Amino acid sequence: MLEGITRRSFLELGAAAGAAALAPHWLKAQAAPAAPADMVAKARAGAATTPIKTTRLADNVFLLQGAGGNMVLQTGPQGNLLIDSSFATAVPKIVEAIAAVAKSAPDTLINTHWHFDHTDGNQGLHAAGFKIVAHQKTRERLAAPQTMKMFGFTLPAAPEAALPVVTFTDSMRLWHNGDTVDLVHFDPAHTDTDIYIHFRQADVVHLGDTWFNGTYPFIDEGTGGNIGGMIRANERALAAAGDSTKIVPGHGPLGTKADLQKFHDMLSGVRDKVGALKAAGATEQEAIAKKPTAEFDSIWAKGMMNGDAFAGIVYRTL
Ligand SMILES: [Zn+2]
Repeated sequence: MLEGITRRSFLELGAAAGAAALAPHWLKAQAAPAAPADMVAKARAGAATTPIKTTRLADNVFLLQGAGGNMVLQTGPQGNLLIDSSFATAVPKIVEAIAAVAKSAPDTLINTHWHFDHTDGNQGLHAAGFKIVAHQKTRERLAAPQTMKMFGFTLPAAPEAALPVVTFTDSMRLWHNGDTVDLVHFDPAHTDTDIYIHFRQADVVHLGDTWFNGTYPFIDEGTGGNIGGMIRANERALAAAGDSTKIVPGHGPLGTKADLQKFHDMLSGVRDKVGALKAAGATEQEAIAKKPTAEFDSIWAKGMMNGDAFAGIVYRTL
């Protein structure tokens, strides 16, 4: 089941992405893919000790990077607005990181999508005073057990206190701390729950896991993700971003429109190559054996997915 995936598991990725120095010891030490329950436990254990790095993106907007997906914080008189919640065990460090730059009270927590490494801290942050906002399908998926097909495990339903209490289906706008904040649903891309968040005045966008900056992305085919949707999501984000927009990926370092364009072009290139093989009648294994990602691997195969694993996802979701 884990064949073709590098030993960095999905749940460990967040700790590794864009911050090798922050990678916990167990990430480097792990010799083989862990059993599912173990992966969850290890991810949580690692998050408990992973420091959070804070980067100012605008006057009152900050990037927080530790274990799990990248987080964005907006501060101001209406209270703190946070995007994504990492792992449950990271919550004390998140609260500390927020207190170091903001005097405001907790207000709103937005989830970019349902995945564990972006929502496991929901319950703890709700207890700290945050109200959770997300796409309607994020609530639906968190409220029921979800199987991660590629990794062969099922996550239990999240507790009531971890569920979003304000949801939307297409888009919504918040007027918050002097900025206009747009929350917009992508058609199924990385999952069927993805949204992007755009701080219009601050000129900051969080794309969730529709962007892995610098590596092949994981696409969750078990919950609606597909390569065509990823490419369309990137095109929509490219159209919304300006040349100086600060773009936050779900995993990896802060980037620009030019960086996102490179990622988009890689996705399109792999899609075209795998698509041509599939159209010519190749089975998945035959297509992978032709190494359709060969020209991209030296740059993009540095994360959780190697070229073969990524080509398989592309083949299956075309
Ligand atoms: Zn994800």
